[in-house]
Amino acid sequence: MKRIGVLTSGGDAPGMNAAIRSVVRYAVHNKIEVIGIFRGYAGLINEELKELNHRSVSNIINRGGTMLKTARCDEFLTEEGQRRAVQAIKKNKIDGLVLIGGDGTYRGGIELVKKWHLSCIGIPGTIDNDLNGTDSAIGCDTAVNTALEAIDKIRDTSTSMERIFVIEVMGREYGFIALQVALGGGAEEVLLPEKKFDFPRMCDEIVEGNIRGKVSWIIIVAEGAHLPDGQIAKAQDIAKKITEMTGLETREVVLGHIQRGGIPTARDRILATRLGAAAVELLMNGQNGKAVGVISDDINVVDLEFAVTKKELKVDNFYRLIKILT
Ligand code: ATP
Repeated sequence: MKRIGVLTSGGDAPGMNAAIRSVVRYAVHNKIEVIGIFRGYAGLINEELKELNHRSVSNIINRGGTMLKTARCDEFLTEEGQRRAVQAIKKNKIDGLVLIGGDGTYRGGIELVKKWHLSCIGIPGTIDNDLNGTDSAIGCDTAVNTALEAIDKIRDTSTSMERIFVIEVMGREYGFIALQVALGGGAEEVLLPEKKFDFPRMCDEIVEGNIRGKVSWIIIVAEGAHLPDGQIAKAQDIAKKITEMTGLETREVVLGHIQRGGIPTARDRILATRLGAAAVELLMNGQNGKAVGVISDDINVVDLEFAVTKKELKVDNFYRLIKILT
Protein backbone atom coordinates (compact mmCIF):
# COMPACT_ATOMS: atom_id res chain seq x y z
CA MET A 1 0.00 0.00 0.00
CA LYS A 2 1.61 3.22 -1.16
CA ARG A 3 -1.45 5.38 -1.51
CA ILE A 4 -4.96 5.06 -0.14
CA GLY A 5 -8.17 7.02 -0.61
CA VAL A 6 -10.70 7.94 2.05
CA LEU A 7 -14.31 9.06 1.58
CA THR A 8 -17.45 9.71 3.60
CA SER A 9 -20.74 8.79 1.99
CA GLY A 10 -24.49 8.65 2.68
CA GLY A 11 -25.85 10.52 5.70
CA ASP A 12 -23.30 12.49 7.68
CA ALA A 13 -22.67 11.43 11.27
CA PRO A 14 -20.85 13.26 14.08
CA GLY A 15 -17.41 11.74 14.53
CA MET A 16 -16.71 11.18 10.82
CA ASN A 17 -14.06 13.91 11.04
CA ALA A 18 -12.32 12.13 13.90
CA ALA A 19 -12.26 8.98 11.74
CA ILE A 20 -10.79 10.89 8.75
CA ARG A 21 -8.12 12.39 11.02
CA SER A 22 -7.19 8.99 12.35
CA VAL A 23 -7.05 7.39 8.89
CA VAL A 24 -4.84 10.18 7.55
CA ARG A 25 -2.43 10.39 10.47
CA TYR A 26 -2.14 6.62 10.96
CA ALA A 27 -1.42 6.16 7.26
CA VAL A 28 1.06 9.03 7.08
CA HIS A 29 2.80 7.63 10.17
CA ASN A 30 3.23 4.42 8.17
CA LYS A 31 4.55 6.24 5.09
CA ILE A 32 1.35 5.81 3.11
CA GLU A 33 -0.03 8.73 1.09
CA VAL A 34 -3.68 9.64 1.56
CA ILE A 35 -6.05 11.05 -1.02
CA GLY A 36 -9.19 12.68 0.35
CA ILE A 37 -12.16 11.99 -1.93
CA PHE A 38 -14.82 14.69 -1.63
CA ARG A 39 -18.61 14.07 -1.76
CA GLY A 40 -18.52 10.29 -1.49
CA TYR A 41 -18.93 8.17 -4.60
CA ALA A 42 -20.02 11.24 -6.60
CA GLY A 43 -16.65 12.87 -5.92
CA LEU A 44 -14.85 9.69 -6.85
CA ILE A 45 -16.61 9.58 -10.22
CA ASN A 46 -15.84 13.28 -10.80
CA GLU A 47 -12.29 13.02 -9.44
CA GLU A 48 -12.79 15.54 -6.64
CA LEU A 49 -9.55 14.49 -5.01
CA LYS A 50 -7.00 16.19 -2.79
CA GLU A 51 -3.92 14.84 -1.10
CA LEU A 52 -4.20 15.05 2.69
CA ASN A 53 -1.28 15.33 5.07
CA HIS A 54 -0.88 15.43 8.83
CA ARG A 55 -1.76 19.14 8.91
CA SER A 56 -4.81 18.86 6.64
CA VAL A 57 -6.72 17.18 9.46
CA SER A 58 -5.73 19.57 12.27
CA ASN A 59 -8.54 20.85 14.49
CA ILE A 60 -11.27 18.60 13.15
CA ILE A 61 -11.47 15.94 15.87
CA ASN A 62 -14.10 17.98 17.71
CA ARG A 63 -16.17 19.01 14.68
CA GLY A 64 -19.51 17.56 13.56
CA GLY A 65 -20.23 16.82 9.90
CA THR A 66 -17.43 15.76 7.57
CA MET A 67 -14.63 17.88 6.10
CA LEU A 68 -14.74 15.64 3.01
CA LYS A 69 -18.46 16.44 2.54
CA THR A 70 -20.83 13.61 1.77
CA ALA A 71 -23.41 12.78 -0.86
CA ARG A 72 -25.86 10.22 -2.09
CA CYS A 73 -24.97 9.23 -5.64
CA ASP A 74 -27.41 7.44 -7.95
CA GLU A 75 -24.86 7.34 -10.77
CA PHE A 76 -22.71 4.98 -8.72
CA LEU A 77 -25.58 2.46 -8.73
CA THR A 78 -25.02 2.04 -12.49
CA GLU A 79 -22.35 -0.01 -14.25
CA GLU A 80 -21.13 3.10 -16.09
CA GLY A 81 -20.89 5.13 -12.88
CA GLN A 82 -18.86 2.39 -11.22
CA ARG A 83 -16.61 2.10 -14.27
CA ARG A 84 -15.84 5.83 -14.06
CA ALA A 85 -15.12 5.53 -10.33
CA VAL A 86 -12.75 2.63 -10.95
CA GLN A 87 -11.00 4.55 -13.73
CA ALA A 88 -10.45 7.45 -11.32
CA ILE A 89 -8.97 5.09 -8.72
CA LYS A 90 -6.60 3.49 -11.25
CA LYS A 91 -5.61 6.79 -12.87
CA ASN A 92 -4.70 8.26 -9.49
CA LYS A 93 -2.83 5.11 -8.43
CA ILE A 94 -4.95 4.55 -5.35
CA ASP A 95 -4.17 1.07 -3.94
CA GLY A 96 -6.94 0.86 -1.37
CA LEU A 97 -10.04 2.69 -0.15
CA VAL A 98 -11.41 3.46 3.30
CA LEU A 99 -15.17 3.93 3.08
CA ILE A 100 -16.87 5.70 5.98
CA GLY A 101 -20.66 5.46 5.91
CA GLY A 102 -23.74 3.33 6.37
CA ASP A 103 -25.15 0.23 4.70
CA GLY A 104 -25.50 1.86 1.27
CA THR A 105 -21.87 2.93 1.37
CA TYR A 106 -20.89 -0.62 2.34
CA ARG A 107 -22.96 -2.05 -0.54
CA GLY A 108 -21.01 0.22 -2.88
CA GLY A 109 -17.82 -1.17 -1.33
CA ILE A 110 -18.99 -4.74 -1.93
CA GLU A 111 -19.46 -3.89 -5.62
CA LEU A 112 -15.96 -2.40 -5.84
CA VAL A 113 -14.44 -5.49 -4.21
CA LYS A 114 -16.44 -8.25 -5.93
CA LYS A 115 -17.01 -6.81 -9.36
CA TRP A 116 -14.04 -4.52 -9.84
CA HIS A 117 -11.43 -6.28 -7.69
CA LEU A 118 -10.43 -3.25 -5.65
CA SER A 119 -9.31 -3.17 -2.01
CA CYS A 120 -11.86 -1.61 0.35
CA ILE A 121 -12.32 -1.43 4.10
CA GLY A 122 -15.50 -0.04 5.67
CA ILE A 123 -15.81 2.09 8.80
CA PRO A 124 -19.35 2.31 10.25
CA GLY A 125 -20.46 5.94 10.20
CA THR A 126 -24.22 6.24 10.61
CA ILE A 127 -26.42 7.60 13.38
CA ASP A 128 -28.88 4.73 12.72
CA ASN A 129 -26.45 2.16 14.20
CA ASP A 130 -27.94 -0.50 11.93
CA LEU A 131 -24.69 -2.13 10.77
CA ASN A 132 -23.70 -5.58 11.98
CA GLY A 133 -20.28 -6.38 13.43
CA THR A 134 -20.11 -3.45 15.82
CA ASP A 135 -21.89 -2.50 19.01
CA SER A 136 -21.88 1.12 17.90
CA ALA A 137 -21.43 3.02 14.66
CA ILE A 138 -19.74 6.42 14.67
CA GLY A 139 -22.37 9.11 15.30
CA CYS A 140 -25.08 7.16 17.06
CA ASP A 141 -23.95 8.09 20.57
CA THR A 142 -23.93 11.80 19.69
CA ALA A 143 -27.33 11.48 18.00
CA VAL A 144 -28.82 9.82 21.09
CA ASN A 145 -27.41 12.55 23.32
CA THR A 146 -28.67 15.31 21.02
CA ALA A 147 -32.15 13.79 20.92
CA LEU A 148 -32.13 13.39 24.71
CA GLU A 149 -31.21 17.02 25.21
CA ALA A 150 -34.16 18.06 23.05
CA ILE A 151 -36.50 15.68 24.84
CA ASP A 152 -35.42 17.07 28.23
CA LYS A 153 -36.47 20.51 27.03
CA ILE A 154 -39.78 19.23 25.72
CA ARG A 155 -40.35 17.53 29.07
CA ASP A 156 -40.22 20.93 30.81
CA THR A 157 -43.03 22.28 28.69
CA SER A 158 -44.92 18.98 28.72
CA THR A 159 -45.01 19.03 32.54
CA SER A 160 -45.81 22.72 32.81
CA MET A 161 -48.55 22.74 30.18
CA GLU A 162 -49.80 19.27 31.21
CA ARG A 163 -49.74 17.94 27.68
CA ILE A 164 -49.03 14.76 25.82
CA PHE A 165 -46.03 15.05 23.49
CA VAL A 166 -45.36 12.67 20.61
CA ILE A 167 -41.71 12.94 19.56
CA GLU A 168 -40.37 11.39 16.36
CA VAL A 169 -36.70 10.47 16.20
CA MET A 170 -34.48 9.24 13.34
CA GLY A 171 -33.17 5.72 12.78
CA ARG A 172 -34.79 4.47 9.56
CA GLU A 173 -35.87 0.82 9.91
CA TYR A 174 -33.86 0.34 13.12
CA GLY A 175 -35.28 1.46 16.48
CA PHE A 176 -31.96 1.97 18.25
CA ILE A 177 -32.15 5.75 18.78
CA ALA A 178 -35.82 5.56 19.81
CA LEU A 179 -35.23 2.80 22.34
CA GLN A 180 -32.19 4.52 23.85
CA VAL A 181 -33.85 7.90 24.23
CA ALA A 182 -37.07 6.38 25.54
CA LEU A 183 -35.19 4.71 28.38
CA GLY A 184 -32.69 7.53 28.93
CA GLY A 185 -35.33 10.24 28.68
CA GLY A 186 -37.88 8.59 30.96
CA ALA A 187 -40.53 8.34 28.24
CA GLU A 188 -43.85 6.68 28.98
CA GLU A 189 -44.11 4.89 25.64
CA VAL A 190 -42.07 4.06 22.54
CA LEU A 191 -43.16 2.88 19.08
CA LEU A 192 -40.50 0.82 17.33
CA PRO A 193 -40.15 -0.92 13.96
CA GLU A 194 -39.21 -4.09 15.87
CA LYS A 195 -42.33 -4.30 18.04
CA LYS A 196 -46.05 -4.63 17.29
CA PHE A 197 -47.87 -1.76 18.84
CA ASP A 198 -51.20 -1.86 20.66
CA PHE A 199 -52.66 1.60 20.15
CA PRO A 200 -55.95 1.11 22.10
CA ARG A 201 -53.94 -0.24 25.06
CA MET A 202 -51.80 2.93 25.10
CA CYS A 203 -54.89 5.15 24.93
CA ASP A 204 -56.50 3.21 27.80
CA GLU A 205 -53.32 3.74 29.85
CA ILE A 206 -53.38 7.46 29.08
CA VAL A 207 -57.03 7.76 30.15
CA GLU A 208 -56.47 5.70 33.32
CA GLY A 209 -53.40 7.80 34.14
CA ASN A 210 -55.38 10.94 33.54
CA ILE A 211 -58.03 9.84 36.08
CA ARG A 212 -55.23 9.30 38.63
CA GLY A 213 -53.88 12.80 37.91
CA LYS A 214 -51.09 11.92 35.44
CA VAL A 215 -51.39 14.56 32.75
CA SER A 216 -48.10 14.79 30.88
CA TRP A 217 -46.78 12.03 28.63
CA ILE A 218 -43.73 11.64 26.43
CA ILE A 219 -44.26 9.18 23.60
CA ILE A 220 -41.25 8.41 21.38
CA VAL A 221 -41.80 7.27 17.78
CA ALA A 222 -39.05 5.75 15.67
CA GLU A 223 -39.23 7.02 12.09
CA GLY A 224 -39.54 3.43 10.81
CA ALA A 225 -42.28 2.34 13.24
CA HIS A 226 -45.57 1.02 11.85
CA LEU A 227 -49.09 0.96 13.20
CA PRO A 228 -50.97 -2.39 13.23
CA ASP A 229 -52.65 -1.49 9.91
CA GLY A 230 -49.19 -1.31 8.29
CA GLN A 231 -49.13 2.49 8.00
CA ILE A 232 -45.90 4.29 8.91
CA ALA A 233 -46.38 5.76 12.38
CA LYS A 234 -45.95 9.50 11.81
CA ALA A 235 -45.86 11.65 14.96
CA GLN A 236 -48.53 13.97 13.59
CA ASP A 237 -51.00 11.14 12.90
CA ILE A 238 -50.37 9.50 16.25
CA ALA A 239 -50.91 12.75 18.14
CA LYS A 240 -54.16 13.33 16.25
CA LYS A 241 -55.37 9.80 16.91
CA ILE A 242 -54.59 10.02 20.64
CA THR A 243 -56.66 13.21 20.88
CA GLU A 244 -59.51 11.51 19.02
CA MET A 245 -59.44 8.48 21.31
CA THR A 246 -58.79 10.19 24.66
CA GLY A 247 -60.12 13.71 24.23
CA LEU A 248 -56.80 15.01 25.58
CA GLU A 249 -54.60 17.69 24.08
CA THR A 250 -51.47 16.55 22.24
CA ARG A 251 -48.50 18.11 20.47
CA GLU A 252 -46.08 16.51 18.04
CA VAL A 253 -42.39 17.22 17.46
CA VAL A 254 -40.21 15.78 14.70
CA LEU A 255 -36.61 16.19 15.85
CA GLY A 256 -35.25 15.71 12.33
CA HIS A 257 -31.81 16.74 11.20
CA ILE A 258 -30.62 18.30 14.46
CA GLN A 259 -29.87 14.68 15.41
CA ARG A 260 -27.17 14.55 12.72
CA GLY A 261 -25.27 17.65 13.78
CA GLY A 262 -23.24 18.86 16.70
CA ILE A 263 -19.98 18.21 18.46
CA PRO A 264 -19.25 14.48 18.61
CA THR A 265 -19.35 12.95 22.08
CA ALA A 266 -16.23 11.51 23.69
CA ARG A 267 -17.51 8.00 22.88
CA ASP A 268 -17.90 8.78 19.19
CA ARG A 269 -14.51 10.47 18.91
CA ILE A 270 -12.73 7.61 20.65
CA LEU A 271 -14.58 5.01 18.57
CA ALA A 272 -13.82 6.90 15.35
CA THR A 273 -10.16 7.29 16.24
CA ARG A 274 -9.75 3.59 17.01
CA LEU A 275 -11.62 2.51 13.88
CA GLY A 276 -9.70 4.85 11.56
CA ALA A 277 -6.39 3.35 12.62
CA ALA A 278 -7.80 -0.20 12.51
CA ALA A 279 -9.00 0.28 8.92
CA VAL A 280 -5.56 1.43 7.74
CA GLU A 281 -3.93 -1.45 9.60
CA LEU A 282 -6.18 -3.92 7.74
CA LEU A 283 -5.26 -2.42 4.35
CA MET A 284 -1.57 -2.59 5.29
CA ASN A 285 -2.03 -6.27 6.15
CA GLY A 286 -3.53 -7.00 2.76
CA GLN A 287 -7.08 -7.50 4.03
CA ASN A 288 -9.96 -6.66 1.73
CA GLY A 289 -13.77 -6.46 1.76
CA LYS A 290 -13.89 -6.08 5.53
CA ALA A 291 -15.62 -3.75 7.95
CA VAL A 292 -14.12 -2.70 11.25
CA GLY A 293 -16.12 -2.30 14.45
CA VAL A 294 -15.91 -2.60 18.19
CA ILE A 295 -17.60 -5.39 20.16
CA SER A 296 -17.34 -5.34 23.96
CA ASP A 297 -14.55 -2.78 23.67
CA ASP A 298 -12.37 -4.90 21.35
CA ILE A 299 -11.75 -4.17 17.68
CA ASN A 300 -13.85 -6.54 15.59
CA VAL A 301 -13.51 -7.33 11.89
CA VAL A 302 -16.29 -8.78 9.73
CA ASP A 303 -16.98 -9.14 6.00
CA LEU A 304 -18.73 -6.16 4.43
CA GLU A 305 -21.45 -8.59 3.34
CA PHE A 306 -22.13 -9.60 6.92
CA ALA A 307 -22.08 -5.99 8.10
CA VAL A 308 -25.07 -5.16 5.86
CA THR A 309 -27.23 -8.08 7.00
CA LYS A 310 -30.20 -7.24 9.20
CA LYS A 311 -29.02 -6.34 12.68
CA GLU A 312 -31.12 -7.61 15.53
CA LEU A 313 -32.23 -5.05 18.10
CA LYS A 314 -32.90 -6.55 21.52
CA VAL A 315 -36.01 -4.70 22.51
CA ASP A 316 -37.80 -6.66 25.21
CA ASN A 317 -35.72 -5.92 28.32
CA PHE A 318 -35.50 -2.21 27.58
CA TYR A 319 -39.20 -2.00 26.77
CA ARG A 320 -40.17 -3.87 29.94
CA LEU A 321 -38.12 -1.46 32.02
CA ILE A 322 -39.60 1.59 30.28
CA LYS A 323 -43.11 0.37 31.12
CA ILE A 324 -42.29 -0.60 34.73
CA LEU A 325 -40.75 2.80 35.40
CA THR A 326 -43.56 4.82 33.79
P1 ATP B 1 -26.96 6.29 6.12
O1 ATP B 1 -27.12 4.98 6.83
O2 ATP B 1 -26.50 7.37 7.01
O3 ATP B 1 -28.16 6.67 5.29
P2 ATP B 1 -25.71 5.11 3.81
O4 ATP B 1 -24.31 4.85 3.47
O5 ATP B 1 -26.60 3.90 4.04
O6 ATP B 1 -25.74 6.10 5.06
P3 ATP B 1 -27.04 5.56 1.29
O7 ATP B 1 -27.59 6.80 0.69
O8 ATP B 1 -27.93 4.39 1.45
O9 ATP B 1 -26.38 6.00 2.67
O10 ATP B 1 -25.79 5.07 0.40
C1 ATP B 1 -24.76 5.96 0.06
C2 ATP B 1 -24.37 5.76 -1.38
O11 ATP B 1 -23.83 4.43 -1.55
C3 ATP B 1 -25.50 5.83 -2.39
O12 ATP B 1 -25.85 7.16 -2.73
C4 ATP B 1 -24.92 5.07 -3.56
O13 ATP B 1 -24.05 5.90 -4.30
C5 ATP B 1 -24.09 3.99 -2.87
N1 ATP B 1 -24.87 2.73 -2.82
C6 ATP B 1 -25.95 2.45 -2.07
N2 ATP B 1 -26.42 1.21 -2.32
C7 ATP B 1 -25.63 0.69 -3.27
C8 ATP B 1 -25.60 -0.54 -3.98
N3 ATP B 1 -26.50 -1.52 -3.75
N4 ATP B 1 -24.63 -0.72 -4.91
C9 ATP B 1 -23.72 0.24 -5.15
N5 ATP B 1 -23.70 1.42 -4.52
C10 ATP B 1 -24.63 1.67 -3.59
